[in-house]
Amino acid sequence: MKILLVEPEKRKEYHTSYPPLALLKLAAYHKKRGDLVKLAKGSSNNSFIPDKIYITSLFTYAWEPVHEVIRFYSDRYKKAKVIVGGIYATLCPDHLRDAFKKRIKIHKRLFKKIDNILPDYSVVPEWDASIVFSSRGCIRKCSFCSVNKLEPKFEARKSIKKLIYPGHKKIIFWDNNILASPYWRDIFDEVEDLNLEVDFNQGLDARLLTEEIALRLKGLKIPLLRLAYDTMGIRKHLQKAIALLKDVGFRGRRIIVYSLFNHENDNPDDFLLRIKELLEWGVVAYPMRYEPLEPMPKNSYVSPNWTAEQLNMIQKARRVIGYGGAFPPYDGLRKKITRAKTFEQAFKLRRIQK
Ligand code: SF4
Repeated sequence: MKILLVEPEKRKEYHTSYPPLALLKLAAYHKKRGDLVKLAKGSSNNSFIPDKIYITSLFTYAWEPVHEVIRFYSDRYKKAKVIVGGIYATLCPDHLRDAFKKRIKIHKRLFKKIDNILPDYSVVPEWDASIVFSSRGCIRKCSFCSVNKLEPKFEARKSIKKLIYPGHKKIIFWDNNILASPYWRDIFDEVEDLNLEVDFNQGLDARLLTEEIALRLKGLKIPLLRLAYDTMGIRKHLQKAIALLKDVGFRGRRIIVYSLFNHENDNPDDFLLRIKELLEWGVVAYPMRYEPLEPMPKNSYVSPNWTAEQLNMIQKARRVIGYGGAFPPYDGLRKKITRAKTFEQAFKLRRIQK
């Protein structure tokens, strides 16, 4: 069989710095079966005539580039079976079905049979990190998060060694909540033995972070640690986790804390309070704008507790006084935000007098 794997064209709304992991796993699976495999980015002409086409998708707001490649390849290869999977396909199957009827098959959630195989990274030779899941799903049910819809059951595995590609220099964990895994010690042991740089990319759950875990983390090669401060409810846990990490030697500027805003459970005042506290605790605050799960244009949703102007103020402040979209605890920035009495004072930028 001839298999075409398609990643929609990368552009502003369809942006990711990572290779399409599920497609790389499908490449490995089909090559093992003796099939011919080709990876295509966007709509590209070539002489490869596929029997089966897999198309991946990302966030729900990035549906247009997905529709474009479906239209392009299904028109061009009328006899090929077209399978569309990924986040948007799982969360918005009706939106996809309305547009393409029976021409495509929608695959929701994971391809179970390929989840635990080594991806074929040879199709992305410039990439040098192994992306792994040591667990799927999450033990929590945060109302703003899609994980429970994408991976409803929390499942963990004891080993990730066979998912590390020879020659890679880094391991990236995409676990939603690795500290909830009963096997986290086994996984950390393996990472320590492999002696590779590691990134717990989806963040660590501060509520589960103990002194033992902080010490084990310090033994790994971690350039940046990620936590979250999405609601005031985890305040005490987060403050304690940050203190534990600092006690074992992590510098605050190496701890980045994602802070949700624009959800119906938050508002500008509690967002400001969370950002102030993070800067007072000496860590990097990274605002994360909530996007709903429905397919609507990026940055168009405004929660009832916010105004479009307030949301724009944050985006602008991140660009102008922030660094890489974040608010690091630099002296000047920390003072400006922590001394502000109102949201507007903290994030409004003054016009420069000519
Ligand atoms: S803890 Fe994180 S991954 Fe789990 S449901 Fe909440 S936001 Fe999602």
